[in-house]
Amino acid sequence: MFKTPESRWRALQARNPLAASAFVYAVTSTRIFCRPACPSRLARRANIVFFDSATDAQSAGFRACKRCQPSSSFSSPSSSSQTHPLDPSKAGSIGVGPQQQQKEATVRKACELVKAAGGKITLEQLAGGIGLSPRYFHGVFKAVMGVTPSGYAARVRSQRAAEESGKGTLSEEWEGIEWSPPVSKYDGDGGTQS
Ligand SMILES: [Zn+2]
Repeated sequence: MFKTPESRWRALQARNPLAASAFVYAVTSTRIFCRPACPSRLARRANIVFFDSATDAQSAGFRACKRCQPSSSFSSPSSSSQTHPLDPSKAGSIGVGPQQQQKEATVRKACELVKAAGGKITLEQLAGGIGLSPRYFHGVFKAVMGVTPSGYAARVRSQRAAEESGKGTLSEEWEGIEWSPPVSKYDGDGGTQS
């Protein structure tokens, strides 16, 4: 997948999450190379060249982008970040540098905050809880998790809903019907619900 420049360019334009660790792209005008998921504005097609790995781009004389840190997590292209989107400990943690580890720690903390809030938390609240600007936090989270914070929160909400429906006697035919589960207490989290 993403072996030809054409397919890579399409993946870039679409910000295809599957391409996140498949290749890097370099911008000839800035001499900087990025991951496909880089939050930076996409350069013109004429200025973009593709490489199979960060190492290749570096040996061609390009510098790693400071925003998406393509050189820090490219030693082992792994699809685990796609298969375990709800588990940050398994997301792209192979062969990373200290900076990437710090980012992952930040994202892991963010994930815990999202889970503690049952997914009912805004980007601003989340970024504030981490101590980062919403914009920067959004980029870091997306780069590590391959999903936006709000997308992650939505998954946590639906997972939580599924768990809660599993606790009670709720059968599938009840889906979509307003219904309060006979659970008065949560196990410490989900406390934002009144
Ligand atoms: Zn970048």
